[in-house]
Amino acid sequence: MTPVLVINSGSSSFKYQLLDMDTASTLASGLVERIGAPDGVASHTVYAQPTDGPAPTFLDATRSRELPIPDHTAGFQVMLDAFASDGPSLTEHAPIAVGHRVVHGGARFFEPTLITPLVEINIDELSVLAPLHNPANLAGIVAAKKAFPDVPHVAVFDTAYHQTLPPAAYTYAIDREVAAAHRIRRYGFHGTSHKFVAEEAAAFLGRPLDELKQIVFHLGNGASVTAVDGGRSVDTSMGFTPLEGLVMGTRSGDIDPAALFHLARRAGMSIDELDDLLNKRSGLLGLAGSNDLRDIQAGIERGDEDARLAFDVYVHRLRAYAGAYLAQLGGADVISFTAGVGENAPLVRAAALETLGFAGVQIDPERNEARARGIRIISTDASTVTVLVVPTDEELEIARQTLSVARP
Ligand code: ADP
Repeated sequence: MTPVLVINSGSSSFKYQLLDMDTASTLASGLVERIGAPDGVASHTVYAQPTDGPAPTFLDATRSRELPIPDHTAGFQVMLDAFASDGPSLTEHAPIAVGHRVVHGGARFFEPTLITPLVEINIDELSVLAPLHNPANLAGIVAAKKAFPDVPHVAVFDTAYHQTLPPAAYTYAIDREVAAAHRIRRYGFHGTSHKFVAEEAAAFLGRPLDELKQIVFHLGNGASVTAVDGGRSVDTSMGFTPLEGLVMGTRSGDIDPAALFHLARRAGMSIDELDDLLNKRSGLLGLAGSNDLRDIQAGIERGDEDARLAFDVYVHRLRAYAGAYLAQLGGADVISFTAGVGENAPLVRAAALETLGFAGVQIDPERNEARARGIRIISTDASTVTVLVVPTDEELEIARQTLSVARP
């Protein structure tokens, strides 16, 4: 058994997952929430293991506890207590390494990196570019190192996969000195998921990754699309921050920046108000009152015009990026959909690619509608572009990358 612990730490919560990398299966997972509040909550799920081979794991039991959790260090003690009381035993399944999701690696980190004191300083310094995320990620790292002092800790950056973008794709057309002084460029996010999906797709099709041109749509609450050429990210829709690109649950995606100048001058909106408007009150939520695509679909069925418009705007943007990336790549072999919307909303997948018949893309309606869990083809046999649904697994990808550093 090769246990690896994966940590995804936010400012007031963290998620964890213990995986056995021999079978790529999850042994346990959990969520520690409301850190810093008097009524903290910790839930811990143990997965029963298959007896023969790497069959899918199945849910065994979840237990929730309510107790005060003053800080991340206390949160890790709660996690250790949960392992001790509910299992699996961390003495028998001691993690050989701990992998940490870190949102921003700037232009500095392009691969999974062993966390040394210097790396911690760098992650902290990159908080300038990700003030909400990097400090929270670092709090998780510091606390996890106290809980597991004797194993390597590895940082896996959301931005790292996109460090292969060529300058033409990552450079914004603004004054170069201003851009350089403030590190304004496209970084791209969701990299762990885009990498995982592109590699799963190639393996599933039995084709060499380095020969494939791929477009990966990660459509969750946050959403982004990446053009992947030979396994390398060459263009991606999120930019300096995760705000750019596609229409998302609560984020606007692309908007003319001059609209913000106008709102500041004419409506007297402050920078913080504009930030809140575009990040938290826009996207599907801003257009139709819910950030959940299921509500939008239900609204359309009821004849709600706002829901119809929200769906149409969402799909219009998907098509624009599909077309742009077909042009950037000079065609595609594979188009994949992943994350909450991408994996579960056939209507979105069909609408996004409906007009691409001229480029050899043909969705098979039955395959697209079929309810299934695993990786699957949803294009017709005649389609020259293979369209896939690929369930993403960011924890597994972080664990793989962690292992590649801990046991090179
Ligand atoms: P996150 O970005 O928070 O990780 P997920 O990848 O879990 O998000 O995606 C969450 C979104 O997926 C939900 O907001 C919802 O819009 C969408 N979703 C989940 N299940 C379905 C479904 N069956 N049909 C349509 N949309 C779904």
